[in-house]
Amino acid sequence: MFLELRQLDIHYPGSPTPAVHGVSLNLRAGDIGVLIGPSGCGKTTLLRAVAGLEPVSGGKILLSSRVVSEAGHTEPAESRRIGMVFQDYALFPHMDVGRNVGFGLNHLPKAERQQRVAEVLELVGLGGADKRYPHELSGGQQQRVALARALAPKPDLLLLDEPFSNLDIDLRERLAHEVRNILKAAKATALLVTHDQLEAFAIGDVIGVMNEGQLHQWDDAYSLYHRPATRFVADFIGHGVFTPATLREVNGQIMVDTPVGTLSDVAECPLPCAFEGGQCDVLLRADDIVHDDHAPVKAEIIRKAFRGSEFLYTLRLASGELLMAHVPSHHDHKLGEWIGIRAEVDHVVTFNRACPVQNRELCQMPCSKAQACEHTDPQYQPVKFV
Ligand code: ADP
Repeated sequence: MFLELRQLDIHYPGSPTPAVHGVSLNLRAGDIGVLIGPSGCGKTTLLRAVAGLEPVSGGKILLSSRVVSEAGHTEPAESRRIGMVFQDYALFPHMDVGRNVGFGLNHLPKAERQQRVAEVLELVGLGGADKRYPHELSGGQQQRVALARALAPKPDLLLLDEPFSNLDIDLRERLAHEVRNILKAAKATALLVTHDQLEAFAIGDVIGVMNEGQLHQWDDAYSLYHRPATRFVADFIGHGVFTPATLREVNGQIMVDTPVGTLSDVAECPLPCAFEGGQCDVLLRADDIVHDDHAPVKAEIIRKAFRGSEFLYTLRLASGELLMAHVPSHHDHKLGEWIGIRAEVDHVVTFNRACPVQNRELCQMPCSKAQACEHTDPQYQPVKFV
């Protein structure tokens, strides 16, 4: 394991709650880890602690099995062999690209330094650009120079803090793919922070979802989407709703009764005995709901968002339950129309049924974003859709 965090706590002086609490994760050499989560969840604090720029109040940070941070001890950033890339590139405007990239290589003889600069510029697709100045480059090119500069001294670990957030959206996704290829070609181990899931999926081998200082899941993209460990992860990744369901076993086969019909022939599902009376909440993703004119179940379109090749419809069943569905955009139905739908679910993701607020998306209580919903108080009525 190259980077290990063990039960990490980080407390800013004077703050009543820790910015990072009980975080454990492992990153293997050559892997790219990504931390995502809403603003203020502790991503940057965690990254800064790994860099040695923030002391920890509990737990440990290990680099190659060496403890570099624990309470009362912070090995200085300079001796950690870590490279950093920030969102504002931080290139020196008065230096050409070659000098910017060679900045951390002053210990090398000139010829070696020039060779390494040429090598990393080639790696980031800017071979021969060493005499150009930052203001002559596009935002994407400047960010690649910043990456080349961070890679030039061959750091053991590269930390990237929202490296694409100053770029426009098309460029961001393309650059995320490019950066992944560059990091893989350099055999770098990297930890990146972003709030953008598409970016995280494009770049990460392993992705951590954080909320309120805690790491909810550290996993590959497929597992985060299909096997979310907590309600927060299920809510944060992709589109979908939690809907009340009952699990039953009939002749050894699991059936799942949902407001949109009974699911059978499911590949993965907990046994009914995992929940009292088999009653639970099931996650129905927008891509689990299929528009089918012949389906007996109908739902009313109450909101729609155009996404290019598809619409994201928010639908309401006659029973009042809300669902979401991705529907190919040539099916351009009007708001208020009733369309046929059915559920096609392979992995049934279940959670304890705790929240009487039916429409979590519109729920205004603070716990709607929490790991375990606390809406057991009967005074909380479902929020009405208007
Ligand atoms: P993120 O990067 O996920 O947006 P941060 O790590 O910046 O989150 O912040 C996590 C929490 O720590 C927030 O509540 C933030 O207000 C607080 N925080 C961040 N930096 C400081 C600081 N220097 N002093 C006190 N509190 C801070």
